[in-house]
Amino acid sequence: MAGVLALAILLVVTVNRFYGHSTIAFTLAIVMLLVANAPMVRFNCPQCGKNAFFRGPLVVFWPNRICTRCGHDLDRPDPSQNR
Ligand SMILES: [Zn+2]
Repeated sequence: MAGVLALAILLVVTVNRFYGHSTIAFTLAIVMLLVANAPMVRFNCPQCGKNAFFRGPLVVFWPNRICTRCGHDLDRPDPSQNR
């Protein structure tokens, strides 16, 4: 996620340097961030729905293996959840 953010900023800076201020590059960067965020938002605990990327008040860039709220093992594939 941090790498994608850096890449998006780099893309905007590079395009701005060669083509002047471009809203297309900016839009593209935002789309990239949304695409990078999509699997992150979906990664919720199948039992309590807590997002696996949240550890208390902190947001981490890698998912928890065990849910911090209910202790559900997130590594185990859940047949009720369609991926
Ligand atoms: Zn849970």
